[in-house]
Amino acid sequence: MKHYKIAVLAGDGIGPEITQEALKVLKVVEERNDVTFELMPALFGACAYFATGDAFPQATIDICDQADAILKGPIGLSHEESKKIPVDKQPERGALLPLRRRYNTYANFRPVSLPKALAHFSPLKPEVIGEGIDLIMVRELVGGLYFGEKEMGVNEQGLRYVRETLEYDEEQIRRIMHQAFKLAMKRRKLLHNIHKSNVLKSSVLWNEVMEEVAKEYPEVKVVNYLVDAAATALCLNPAQFDVMVMENMFGDILSDQGGGILGSLGLMPSACLGDDKAYYEPSHGSAPDIAGKNIANPYSMIGSVAMMLENSFDMADEAKNVWAAMQGVFADGFSTADLSKPGSGVKMISTVEFGDKVVEKLRAMPKV
Ligand code: NAD
Repeated sequence: MKHYKIAVLAGDGIGPEITQEALKVLKVVEERNDVTFELMPALFGACAYFATGDAFPQATIDICDQADAILKGPIGLSHEESKKIPVDKQPERGALLPLRRRYNTYANFRPVSLPKALAHFSPLKPEVIGEGIDLIMVRELVGGLYFGEKEMGVNEQGLRYVRETLEYDEEQIRRIMHQAFKLAMKRRKLLHNIHKSNVLKSSVLWNEVMEEVAKEYPEVKVVNYLVDAAATALCLNPAQFDVMVMENMFGDILSDQGGGILGSLGLMPSACLGDDKAYYEPSHGSAPDIAGKNIANPYSMIGSVAMMLENSFDMADEAKNVWAAMQGVFADGFSTADLSKPGSGVKMISTVEFGDKVVEKLRAMPKV
């Protein structure tokens, strides 16, 4: 019997609600397999700040250090509520970036996937969706502007100023490129390199390193795309993409657009992998506008569990079952409020009902 320790950081806003559903699914995985999961809940984000004065308290660090994998819900507060926390202690700067830095989770995989049968979820026309959307964004997660030195102050002219630094070294670029090329080799052998080398020197180095790494993967066709053009192309012809690789901030923004073309950020799970530790989280935020209403879509969180099963616990087949169980709920015509707009023909169910239906489907599947 295998035994894994999972740090569970439910987070803020809708975090606890969707985490609850993900844990229900994990319980069923335990029942169906020769595995036990030791869940270690810990405070992280704004909830941790209000309870302890620190968004990533030492007790949480200790739990994450011990864990075989970390399952993280979204964190953060609404724009107005955020002002209750000092700038440097706010959830992203005080918890999320330190988590990523501590475990050096440099490779972020964000699948953007919508089968043809679910094209009605998307705001794009069926003819644009074609045979469906199935791409993965590979985002560098511990470098660039988000991690560079930051400074705010008043300059010699008495004007408030801010300075943020965008820094990459070639090794940081090389390792994410290898991740992207390896993934491309397992898929359509097509890699879209997203950059902004017409303006940013960081992209000039990025592209140089990309070309060096590409020589090691001669079977992979590389297509270079300026990030702004890629944003348009994602709306006009998403099917052209398979694996896309990009630096940190481009990935943050384009992957939310990924949620947009699917129809909801609730369809966006992710895996954040380092060499020694991985954590799994929805790509979206804490959705304060819908928190506490039992209407959030838990797909992103349950999908993150599926990614954890595959990447951290070597349970790829069971991960496929979890995906299939969720698709089965959609195929039966159900979804949460984000994807069941009036007139869509989709029957609206709550967060908890979605989780229950996934559990029911998974239980009914043959064991692996
Ligand atoms: P958001 O991603 O929380 O929400 C954007 C929109 O998508 C909202 O309308 C929301 O209701 C909807 N949405 C998001 N997830 C959904 C789900 N699972 N089901 C249904 N609808 C969903 O973005 P925001 O409102 O700009 O940010 C809210 C907070 O989240 C901020 O404090 C932000 O800093 C934080 N944030 C955290 C992370 C993270 O934890 N990794 C990522 C992004 C934003």
